[in-house]
Amino acid sequence: MIIDTHAHVYLEDFDEDADLIIERAATENIDQILLPNIDMTSVERLLGLCDKHPQLYKPMIGLHPCYVKEDYEQQLIQLKTYLNREDLVAIGEIGIDLYWDKTFEKEQILAYRTQIEWSKEKSLPFVIHSRESLDLTISIVEEMQDGRLSGVFHCFNGTVEQAQRIMDVGFYMGIGGVVTFKNAGVDKVVSQLPMEYLVVETDAPYLSPVPFRGSRNEPSYVSKVIDKIAEVKELDRAEVCKLTTENARKLFSI
Ligand SMILES: [Zn+2]
Repeated sequence: MIIDTHAHVYLEDFDEDADLIIERAATENIDQILLPNIDMTSVERLLGLCDKHPQLYKPMIGLHPCYVKEDYEQQLIQLKTYLNREDLVAIGEIGIDLYWDKTFEKEQILAYRTQIEWSKEKSLPFVIHSRESLDLTISIVEEMQDGRLSGVFHCFNGTVEQAQRIMDVGFYMGIGGVVTFKNAGVDKVVSQLPMEYLVVETDAPYLSPVPFRGSRNEPSYVSKVIDKIAEVKELDRAEVCKLTTENARKLFSI
């Protein structure tokens, strides 16, 4: 069994073939798919999908850093009202993205810290998005870690040194399609990491693995990520499935 720990399948990109997505995921032995939220405009669609397929889809609630704008405090107040859902597996996705736009850098950091506090209050892990900000997002976790924080740096593409800091603070790394990209270097870093700290993900509809690079990503393609990890770690595919699924079950209590 496999868990795709990060997929945005509630987006309109999947309206046409929502049932086929589920069928193809089942064919690849994916039995759970975790859905990170984006902002207030996505939350009802996300939760609706989880209500429709409660075994397969599990929700996260959070404000994505690219959507932290002038109204972020209002967004956080509204999003916080959803935190009592029984099936919530994490706060997410949260973090800092300085690649697209630095206008709200200060607000992004504040929103990130506020949502880390939520994870403490609710005893839930959190899922971190970082772009051009990996050292900063790790530093804030290091500073706030009081033994109660757990989570995953999603779409990890850092160095071995950054991976070591993440493991030292007790966090996991989400490995996605980028591990299959030639020249990205993620495969070389992953080859040096212990399996104990890795979970797999797609980030669908983004970042499709080779050979689907450039087209819409979907949960069934997580099998390509597993193939690549098996190759660089020189492990059986079944072993990679087993270990990454165990890690995901432990982290998200599922
Ligand atoms: Zn995402």
